Amino acid sequence: MSDKYDGEFYCVKCKAKKTASGDIVVNEKGTKMAKAICPDCGTKLNRILGRA
Ligand SMILES: [Zn+2]
Repeated sequence: MSDKYDGEFYCVKCKAKKTASGDIVVNEKGTKMAKAICPDCGTKLNRILGRA
């Protein structure tokens, strides 16, 4: 199962919020994370969504 997340991510390189689309993953601690790529600089973006 791979869910998609569309929304705001904070890009540490651009130092700004970016709207991107990425995959939702659950890490080993049971925390849901969204992973995307900054549309402007290509940096990996992570956003914590909370407990799965
Ligand atoms: Zn960026």
